Amino acid sequence: MIESLQFVVSVLALFLLWTCIIYWLHRISHIKHAKNPLWIIHRAHHRLPYFSEAPRPWPRLGQYFFWLGNWKESLDVIFVMTIPLGLLTIVFPAQGACLLVFHYFYEVFLSESRLDHNPYLTGRWTKFFAWGSFHLVHHVQLQKNFCLMITLWDHVFGSAIEPDPDFPEKFLRGKALEGLKERRALI
Ligand SMILES: [Zn+2]
Ligand SMILES: [Zn+2]
Repeated sequence: MIESLQFVVSVLALFLLWTCIIYWLHRISHIKHAKNPLWIIHRAHHRLPYFSEAPRPWPRLGQYFFWLGNWKESLDVIFVMTIPLGLLTIVFPAQGACLLVFHYFYEVFLSESRLDHNPYLTGRWTKFFAWGSFHLVHHVQLQKNFCLMITLWDHVFGSAIEPDPDFPEKFLRGKALEGLKERRALI
């Protein structure tokens, strides 16, 4: 019992370390410089019109193989999230393996339109989780809300902005409302 509790705590500790690394890599990805490969890759994420198409009930076939739309979007996730976790797994194999499984399912089934870019996730959800309106603020203010999955590190390093309660509606006004109606139908 104590051993399994210790293991869970160690997985959570590794998750915190991983999300901290992700925070800083994402922050570095926003240093706009022609020689910053992370920015060259990451800006593809910010060019995507997330609300111009209705979310799909199931991932596209390529997503199961970590093909996340195009090569820049795929490399963005691999450089910022997968490779750091792979390196941590070399040092902490059991805990890292748990997080690799979590990372796969989160990216394939949850992150894109279900959690990260879901404008209907607001309020208490976005206090602790970098979902919905918290992450959408980052799409408007590129130097704020760098965290992915949890909001902790933005608060620690002073880059957090609490989303305005009516932010999602403001943000979405004029953007693909047809797609939104379908999104609403899916939730
Ligand atoms: Zn970004
Ligand atoms: Zn995004």
